Amino acid sequence: MNFKDMQPETILAQAGGAIDMQSGGVVPPIQPATTFARDEDYNPLNANNVYARPHNDVVRQAEGVLAELESGAAALLFPSGMAAIAALFRTVPSGGRVIVQSGIYWNTTKWIREFCKRRQIVIDEVDASDSTALAAVCAQGPANVVWVETPSNPWLKVTDVAAAKQAAKSCGALLAVDSTAASPILTNPLKLGADIVMHSATKVINGHSDVMGGVLVTKELTAVWDEIVNDRASAGAIMGPFEAWLLLRGMRTLALRVERMVDNALKIARFLDDHPKVDSVLFPGLESHPQHELAKHQMPGGAGFLMSFLVKGDRERALQAAGKMQLFHRATSLGGVESLVEHRHTIEPHTGIPDTLLRISVGVEDAGDLMSDLGQALGQ
Ligand SMILES: *Cc1c(COP(=O)(O)O)cnc(C)c1O
Repeated sequence: MNFKDMQPETILAQAGGAIDMQSGGVVPPIQPATTFARDEDYNPLNANNVYARPHNDVVRQAEGVLAELESGAAALLFPSGMAAIAALFRTVPSGGRVIVQSGIYWNTTKWIREFCKRRQIVIDEVDASDSTALAAVCAQGPANVVWVETPSNPWLKVTDVAAAKQAAKSCGALLAVDSTAASPILTNPLKLGADIVMHSATKVINGHSDVMGGVLVTKELTAVWDEIVNDRASAGAIMGPFEAWLLLRGMRTLALRVERMVDNALKIARFLDDHPKVDSVLFPGLESHPQHELAKHQMPGGAGFLMSFLVKGDRERALQAAGKMQLFHRATSLGGVESLVEHRHTIEPHTGIPDTLLRISVGVEDAGDLMSDLGQALGQ
């Protein structure tokens, strides 16, 4: 049977694929060797493996699963999401131009700005969830990369990937999508036209808050992709075999986890939306969200597990509510089986984020227990 014909649930449940013929094990082995032997004629004993920087079986197995999930031609793992983003932007030549969505994961913006400054790359930041605004910026001249993040973190804006592709095409740019908050279960940007999809695998793909990782998946094998492959192999931003093995282990339950998290998140969004101590809820799954219709179309399996809400009152009120939470851990990150709460203004006070905003990542706990915790923390 060919994995290409199968549903994500099946690909994931058997992530890593075939039986390990050497041991008979139903999960893949970890091969920690940094170097691989040659025979008497100096040919590698295994043609795939010479040295562990570019070559490791379990890393390739995890990449194979991710490429299948996103319907891409190939995937590359990196030791973090940021390393994956950096690998893509390093292909932009000095003097080039990039168009980047504003109001996205703060460290992405920060790193891209610093990088573009060093390389004399022109950077245009635009609210890409406004397709007209994105098209207008693209129409100003040629560019190398259009970078969007959907849903965006922590504003939960939804960008129309198909429209973004048209805009990117009009200026000769690649469209790259950070789909971390959607997961490969809820959106497949390559199918909507994107050229490259990126995930922080640290988040829901691994899902257990115990592995750092990032991934790029390409729709086609292009010259830019070759550059990224070469750069990773030579510059060495690789994921180790233990992390790749843990990632495969985590991915086996990805579909189940996302299903539960999405279900919990919608219940919690409605609960918060009705709560007297909450001003507003930013969640594309709510009918009141400005891009709800787009989200329904682009994320048919649900609007995700990440949301933000504004607590009535001031900064102190928001911090007090976060401080009283007992189930939601006060910690950054998202996509784990455990629910987290984050006061983003403490981390990025200069980006215009409201100081009453709390961002939550909803885990797989019981929805009723989570709502009770939010209720007692906010004050009934
Ligand atoms: C976490 C995150 C990243 C960065 O990934 P790391 O694995 O932390 O390097 C990029 N984009 C989004 C949307 C994220 O949530």
